[in-house]
Amino acid sequence: MTFIAQRLQYFDSSDFREVFNRKQLLKNPVDLSVGEPEEHTTDFIKEAGIRAINENKTTYTPANGIVDLRIAIAKKLNEENGLNCNEEAVTIVPGLTTGQLLIYMAILDPGDEVLVMDPYYPPYNYLASSIGAHVTLVSVLPDFQPDLPMIEASITSRTKAIVINSPGNPTGVVYPESTLRKIASIAEEHGLLVISDEIYEHFVYENKHFSIGSIYPNTLTLNGFSKEFAMTGWRIGYIAGPKDIIEAINELQQYMVFASSSIAQYAALAALSQRPTINGKYLRKRDVVRKSLQDMGYTVHGMQGAFYSFFKAPNDITDIEFVEKLAERNLILVPGRAFSRLHGFVRLSYGANITQVEKGLDILAEVTSEMRS
Ligand code: PLP
Repeated sequence: MTFIAQRLQYFDSSDFREVFNRKQLLKNPVDLSVGEPEEHTTDFIKEAGIRAINENKTTYTPANGIVDLRIAIAKKLNEENGLNCNEEAVTIVPGLTTGQLLIYMAILDPGDEVLVMDPYYPPYNYLASSIGAHVTLVSVLPDFQPDLPMIEASITSRTKAIVINSPGNPTGVVYPESTLRKIASIAEEHGLLVISDEIYEHFVYENKHFSIGSIYPNTLTLNGFSKEFAMTGWRIGYIAGPKDIIEAINELQQYMVFASSSIAQYAALAALSQRPTINGKYLRKRDVVRKSLQDMGYTVHGMQGAFYSFFKAPNDITDIEFVEKLAERNLILVPGRAFSRLHGFVRLSYGANITQVEKGLDILAEVTSEMRS
């Protein structure tokens, strides 16, 4: 007899657990598995959080977040992203991962379909399946750019939404504006909602970032503080979009979240007042990683943004065999199957500092050349 609900069959985090276990077995591994920037939260942001605590701003906030933060976010979205929204069209969530579940719960009934590009950020897939929706995975091989006819061919009468993530995890792909315009017109033609996860918007090295919400009003724009502001542990993000959907999310938040952390919200408000300049450093790391991978003989696609590379293991060995081989030499990467139906790829994160990244690349080069000889 089991007390566990059926929906658990749709969740699979075993690949990430295995990565964690591999790390535990090693002494000082070179860890290029983690999807986090190397920086710490900046002092003035930490101080704003501490100030909120000292000023007893430690009580529940409205379910959709404090109004000052929503106003600041609406301003940012209007000025930087070309959206046309006010604070009522913005809701604060305790991180985009929870945000994604709230969105799906707000829009999807059992049997509804959602299109997700493969490779994907895992919650896009598992969370939709777990609430009875059908996920149609659309392959973006070979270059990780979406194939527009394939997207159109995947749409059925039950398709409600398309999820896009540019700059993307795990491939680092950035969609050009022309592609996003075409996706918007496909969505319009078929009456689809676009869910656009833009959490890596400030990590762009090629193809300028373009917010699809600026041209297609039936878009939910997701962004957060985890990556740009190195605030992964604060658990804070936001969703902006059509007011009826935002209201539905707020209704759900009332009983599922109650409200995001007040302390994190005040820290986030401070964060928006002073934006970090991070691109130079990450562009340099991107260049080092891309060139090294190419020198090792890997075919490299994507990598126009975010801080990931997703490439195929050599000699047709499986992703698991490859990450195990690398772990034997103290390097930790994530097997591609955690992000994809495809099993031959691995994800390398260059969120880590350049010394670690270079150490990791040296190990990768040694193992690769041994395997190829
Ligand atoms: N969206 C993408 C594409 C991500 O890669 C991640 C984290 O790796 C998240 C969302 C998670 O964001 P949050 O920390 O706000 O839950």
